[in-house]
Amino acid sequence: MPELEARLREFLVELIRVAETRLPLDVYNALKKALEVEDNPIAKQHLEAILRNSELAAKLGKPICQDTGTPVFYIRLGEEFPLRAKIYEVATEAVREATRLIPLRPNAVNPIRGGNTGDNTGRHIPWFDVEIVPGDRLEVTFVAKGGGSEAPSTLNMALPIRGIRNVWETVLKAVVSAGPKPCPPVVVGVGIAALGEQALAIARKAALLRPLGERHPEPEIAELEEKLLDAINSLGIGVHGFGGKITALDVHIDYAHRHPATYAVGVVFNCWAIRRATGYITPDGRWEITSKHI
Ligand code: SF4
Repeated sequence: MPELEARLREFLVELIRVAETRLPLDVYNALKKALEVEDNPIAKQHLEAILRNSELAAKLGKPICQDTGTPVFYIRLGEEFPLRAKIYEVATEAVREATRLIPLRPNAVNPIRGGNTGDNTGRHIPWFDVEIVPGDRLEVTFVAKGGGSEAPSTLNMALPIRGIRNVWETVLKAVVSAGPKPCPPVVVGVGIAALGEQALAIARKAALLRPLGERHPEPEIAELEEKLLDAINSLGIGVHGFGGKITALDVHIDYAHRHPATYAVGVVFNCWAIRRATGYITPDGRWEITSKHI
């Protein structure tokens, strides 16, 4: 078992390295498409700089952004994977090691006493989202969530009687009030649910994990995503707030059935620097990174 532990740690350090230094291919392609569509010269310059920056980061093995984010692990734990209880400890060690090796900016600050732990770990950091699934593999998506794009996240415990208008109002208000703060072009994740934290968790998963350009499988939701994307891009905030056609690269919506008396709408932004990487490890220690990157 110690051998599997070592292989898991090696896999997770590499997963963090890929996420932090190599932009996912779907994001890179969406940024290139935005450059073709955009006609504001300043916005175009910024998109060119973003693309060049991402290409250099991949080539040199350096972080895509100086804010190397809050570490989040989305885990699909096969019920027969042997190291179940150890995963948190090994993943936390992997964050420490990646912080030292890549290196990453230390971002874990004590909210009461102040002070930075210096290694991107601390109370409830890294953050874990674990789903138990059939099989014996451990599948992991690592996400480094930028602070600037997290800061304007919004939760609206809206009036149920207003129905879907709640979604329109909450999303557009959130985008206007965020302005350039989340480093547009952004991906806007929207979660609708019974409980507040459920709406934000659903919104975050939609913003962070779903590939750009992929629509929700339910046609009404897919249509709402398209319409909201058009509405957001008609606001003219533009790349880094310099105006233009492209404020959002995509809108991803998901929902849970709500309580009759609640209509929670969560909005979570992801900046253009979407740092995510996915892979798996098997009980014999074989691992592979499956997501595609530049
Ligand atoms: S919001 Fe994103 S792009 Fe902006 S500084 Fe933070 S990580 Fe970097």
